[in-house]
Order: sequence, then structure tokens, then C-alpha cells
Amino acid sequence: MSIPAQPSNQYVHDLDREHVFHSWSTQGALNPLVIAGGSGCTLWDYDGKQYLDFSSQLVNTNIGHQHPAVVAAIKAQADTLVTVAPATANLMRGEAAKRILARAPAGFSKVFFTNAGADANENAMRMARIYTGRDKILSAYRSYHGSTGAAIVATGDPRRVPNEFARGHVHFFNPYLYRTEFHASNEEEECERALAHLRRVIECEGPGATAAILLETIPGTAGILVPPKGYLPGVRKLADEYGILLIFDEVMAGFGRTGSWLALDHFDAVPDLICFAKGVNSGYVPAGGVMISKPICDYFDNHFFPGGLTYSGHPLAMAAIVATLDAMSEEGMVDNARRIGQELLGPGLERLAERHRLIGEVRGIGLFWALEFVSDARLRTPLAGPLVAQMKAAFAARGLLTFTVENRLHVVPPCIVNAAQVEEALAILDEVIGEFSARHA
Ligand code: PLP
Repeated sequence: MSIPAQPSNQYVHDLDREHVFHSWSTQGALNPLVIAGGSGCTLWDYDGKQYLDFSSQLVNTNIGHQHPAVVAAIKAQADTLVTVAPATANLMRGEAAKRILARAPAGFSKVFFTNAGADANENAMRMARIYTGRDKILSAYRSYHGSTGAAIVATGDPRRVPNEFARGHVHFFNPYLYRTEFHASNEEEECERALAHLRRVIECEGPGATAAILLETIPGTAGILVPPKGYLPGVRKLADEYGILLIFDEVMAGFGRTGSWLALDHFDAVPDLICFAKGVNSGYVPAGGVMISKPICDYFDNHFFPGGLTYSGHPLAMAAIVATLDAMSEEGMVDNARRIGQELLGPGLERLAERHRLIGEVRGIGLFWALEFVSDARLRTPLAGPLVAQMKAAFAARGLLTFTVENRLHVVPPCIVNAAQVEEALAILDEVIGEFSARHA
């Protein structure tokens, strides 16, 4: 079987539709975009059509596409040792863990590597259950923790998929002032009432039965819900009061996305376990993991940990982590994300909200922003999902890739984005949202 030397968009599209089964989709309804290559914040197809990538491919490529130093590091590692079992000691694995821990809060001493974000959460929950000898995991209704056995049960509505074998999962409401569950009228009230609600859930479920609270530091897929300042410190206090472990899922928000190394840097709260993936090497080679605090590391010094994956700490992924984190530091990408987010992207999106009644709320931090579309601004009625999907297609037709979920547009460019690219994206958003507002607001 030969591969065409110069494939066309049509050839790649048809090949995909004939043979590839896609995730989170109804297969018959798919019309996937064809992507042939990329560089920095740009992707292109086989006809030469270019796209400005403000989706970072599922909020993943924080360093942009085809970073030369990272591609070179992967090639160099491939020339030396492509794969080796997790039980061996490997140079790049140690260097990667050292660099990850250098970005963690004080008190974190080791890294357990996984293949992705979902299995990072699976293993963190397992560690918490073994360490505490308790069963229950509390997680938020507004959350996404991955699509594997227990991670998808820990995930909140509407993505949760039942799994009768993943038991002991309990959900609670996290803060979301725009659609408050607590009849709150400001952030302080929302924070206070969300913490009182969590305390009730812990008490009703039995503190002695609860192993961990699993929370995205800033829930991403559920709407980029930056919590009130006091919320995570309040959860930490509750966890300490009841002897419950705290796990932060930083899979989407970690490694530069929010304008700091980890999203937890914005809050005065340190968890016991931190799950990561995506931004740690921008997904150049699949990798994830769990940062483990010292008391838990000490415990497993003389207790067996039953868990591991053949590809854990894969040398190609580890070389990509080392080169990614070095490039992010050397090129000031985290500062760029903070500065561009604060000075250009955030204010630019706020200006769009002033101009277009379809935008009910703008929220975010760093390069992690969501616009919530509403058909009635006063009642905050969510705009119908199919209309938002049509808007996404209209952005793409004008050369802008975005990430949409339900009635929301997530604006999440790579951390290397520059002012001109932000202006270009804002102009496309303005034009398309304007057209839809004229028809639907
Ligand atoms: N946790 C969070 C916060 C995520 O956003 C995701 C994916 O988007 C996951 C976990 C799952 O990661 P993966 O798809 O790499 O398994």
C-alpha cells in the first residue's frame, strides 16, 4: 500500500471517513477539518489554506506547533533509545521529573508518569484511596477529568458516563456565579455558600469514608470557571479538618495556560496531589502524570503501589517534556501568556461583550478565556448549541480555529501568541458574532 506523495484535502478527508472512528462524536455527522502541517500559532491544509489556531488543539499546544528545539529533542532521543520499560532508570525521565517538580509548590517530591490526563486522575484517586484507607471521592458537577473508567465517573454533568464498577463517587456544586446554584449575588456569597454546601456534602457522606476531593484548579471544559479567591483555600481547610486528601487536576490549566506555571499559583492553596498532562510537553508525545507530596511519597516507600502503564515515562515523551519546559523558560512563554492575556486578549473580549448582546459573560485568566453566548441576556438563556457550532464553522471559514462547548466559545491560543495575532482573531470574532447577533439576538 503506498501513501500519495502529494495528498489532497479530499483524499485525506475520505481516508479518514472510511477508516477512522472519532472520539466524542456521532460518526455519521462528522466532517473533520483536514490539517496537513503547522508552525507556531498557524496550521494549514493541503490546499494551502491557513488557520490561526486559537484552540491550541484541545487546549494542549501551549508552546505552539512544531517548536524546533522540541522536535529536535524528540529526534535526538529517537536516535539514542526509542523505548524502555518504566522500571528502568532513564536519564530523560529523571530530568523531566526534576523540571516538573521545580515548578510545583514546596513539599512535592516525586512524579508518577502516565500516558495522559485521564490516567493521571485514575492513579491519583487510587493513591488517595490506598493512603487514606477510605473509599469515596468527591468531585464537582462542573468538571471534566477524562474519559476512562473512574475519571469519567468523577467528571460532572453532562459528560459523565455511568460505570457500575467505579463506585464511591459523589458530586457537589462548585462556584459558578453567573449560573449560581446558591442564589448568590456576588463572589463572596458564592464562595461562602459553595463552601458551606461542600461541608454539608462531606458530613452527609461521612468524613471517615472520604479519601479525597478532586477538583480542577480552574474548571476548563465546564466553562473556564475561575473560582473566587477564597474558594480553594476554603476547600483546603475543609479537607484538613476532616483528614481528606486534596487533588488538583491541572491537566488543562497547568504549564503556562493561565499566565503562571500552575493555575494553583494564583490561589493560596496547596493540594496533596497534582495531576498534569497536555501543556507539560504540549502533547508532542503523549504524557501525563501525578506530582506527589512528601508524606504520600514517604508512605509508599514501604507500601506497595499497584499501578503502572507500559509506556509510563516513555523516553520520547520525557525528552519532549525536558525540551518544552526549557524552551518555555528560556523564551518567557509564561510571562507572555500573562501579559497578552491581561493587556490584550481579556480586554479585547470584554469589548466584544459590550458590542454584542449575544455574549452573556466573559471570564478567564492568562490565555484561558470563555465567552458564554445567550439568546436572552436578561434571563441568561443559553444560546442553542447548534448555533454555536455554526459560529465555530464560520470562524474556521475565515481562518480562525476555536474550541466550543455547548453555548460557550473557549478562546485559548498558544502561550507564544503575539499582539498582531490577537488583533486578527478579535477582528474575526467581532465580524462573525456581529453577523449572528443581527440574526439571533
Ligand atoms: N482533566 C482535565 C482538566 C482535562 O481538561 C482533560 C482533557 O481535556 C483530562 C483530564 C483528560 O485528559 P486526557 O484527554 O489526556 O486523558
